[in-house]
Amino acid sequence: YGDYNQKIDYVFKVVLIGDSAVGKSQLLARFSRNEFSVESKATIGVEFQTKTLIIDNKTVKSQIWDTAGQERYRAVTSAYYRGAVGAMLVYDMTKRQSFDHMTRWLEELRGHADKNIVIMLVGNKSDLGSLRAVPTEDAQEFAQRENLFFMETSALEATNVETAFLTVLTEIYRIIC
Ligand code: GDP
Ligand code: MG
Repeated sequence: YGDYNQKIDYVFKVVLIGDSAVGKSQLLARFSRNEFSVESKATIGVEFQTKTLIIDNKTVKSQIWDTAGQERYRAVTSAYYRGAVGAMLVYDMTKRQSFDHMTRWLEELRGHADKNIVIMLVGNKSDLGSLRAVPTEDAQEFAQRENLFFMETSALEATNVETAFLTVLTEIYRIIC
């Protein structure tokens, strides 16, 4: 960290996908900078953030891509998916529709990405438990059927955010290296 002469052994590209307002940008802010902003603006311009970590004594730079307001169906371009070795498929656990849309996001992802891509289904906003619209079991069942990792997170409270990203990155490492 902070050592610009640091030797990077691997760079892993991970993409964030899912409907607008599910918390993708805040998950990224929490993971890369340990920040959260309530007044989160629609993402414009910023393509990705990086975070360097050590896995198995190797220096791994994760390059996490965030959609720049392209969440409309089929608006995400193939350049976004190109080279991705991991994906976070994010829904808002208080919005049933954002979970129902996971099927088509997954379809789009599988249509564009490498077949060995590591995918984590993420149910975000777990801090809003009383407003839950997606039972954990429904998501678990979907994840199992589609062969995805699954975790419920809160970018606001920093619950499971690091674990979710680290799980994906470690699994990528295990597959590739
Ligand atoms: P994106 O469109 O998917 O990038 O969503 P944003 O990251 O911009 O978040 C959309 C809204 O949800 C913002 O008002 C965030 O403050 C809020 N938000 C994001 N993550 C959480 C969370 O974990 N809990 C709660 N309560 N709100 C969140
Ligand atoms: Mg965003």
